[in-house]
Amino acid sequence: MIRDNRNLLCAASASLRLCGLYTFSKRLLALLLLIPALAFAQSDSATSRAWNQPVKPYRVIGNIYYVGATEVSSFLITTPQGHILLDSGFEETVPLIRDNINKLGFKLEDIKVLINSHAHYDHCGGLADLKELTGAKLAASEADAALLANGGKGDFQWGDTFAYKPVTVDRKLRDRDTVELGGVVMTARLTPGHTKGCTTWTMKVEEGGRQLDVVFVGSASIPGYKLLGNAKYTNISEDYAHTFEVLKGLKCDVFLGPHGSFFSMKEKMARLEKGEKKNPFIDPQGYRDYVERAEKNYRDQLQKESRAKGGK
Ligand SMILES: [Zn+2]
Repeated sequence: MIRDNRNLLCAASASLRLCGLYTFSKRLLALLLLIPALAFAQSDSATSRAWNQPVKPYRVIGNIYYVGATEVSSFLITTPQGHILLDSGFEETVPLIRDNINKLGFKLEDIKVLINSHAHYDHCGGLADLKELTGAKLAASEADAALLANGGKGDFQWGDTFAYKPVTVDRKLRDRDTVELGGVVMTARLTPGHTKGCTTWTMKVEEGGRQLDVVFVGSASIPGYKLLGNAKYTNISEDYAHTFEVLKGLKCDVFLGPHGSFFSMKEKMARLEKGEKKNPFIDPQGYRDYVERAEKNYRDQLQKESRAKGGK
């Protein structure tokens, strides 16, 4: 039930959250559906506050640590030669990330490479500050590099509404390019649609003598976008279709993503804290369910738009 609501919510409250699939109560959902989307854009600081509450940092698995906030992820991947940080959250998330890294006994200035899931303000708003604080190099997809350099302005859907501090990409990535540091290899898989350069990251970790495949999904939600006849993103539908093929082809043991609600973080964190024997973040079925749900949402919308245009 909640899952169905999540999909509905994605389309209905597009500007409340860019990434969709968020858990709300039915009552709140009903309320949200009554309020015009514009109102959400104006209450954006309330959104960021709600998603930006502190979280006790923790080791997810292997050398992957969660250092983000309640609903905007930030992952620290540690190596003996410095660290990689995936996503910055909002600009306001940066002090939380810094505190979380310190609490874990690591140092912010040891971050050597910054990477990004996609160029929306709730995942890259703090990259400019982090780059300045750490001197790290930013590696991001070619297609999202332009949006990052514009500070989110000129977004195909949101225009200048969700602007952030512009940040220069030092290394522009193509599909299957890797970021390598201290023995860690992270592979960028382009999964466009949600943004033109949305990137899913994969890597391997060792846990209990086993090698596991980790997938940090970019985002496959469709927050109010038009899939057919979208003048500002003409191949958006083909891009989403390609993204689902890529996601379905990935081997995933450990499922992670830019929003905690994508991978049931709160519930898994609680299980991890209880000392559950098998690491709860090992969740291949959760990954398959996420991809299946997102693809169904895409197909449903495509069909709806096609019917409205007089197609089949
Ligand atoms: Zn997004």
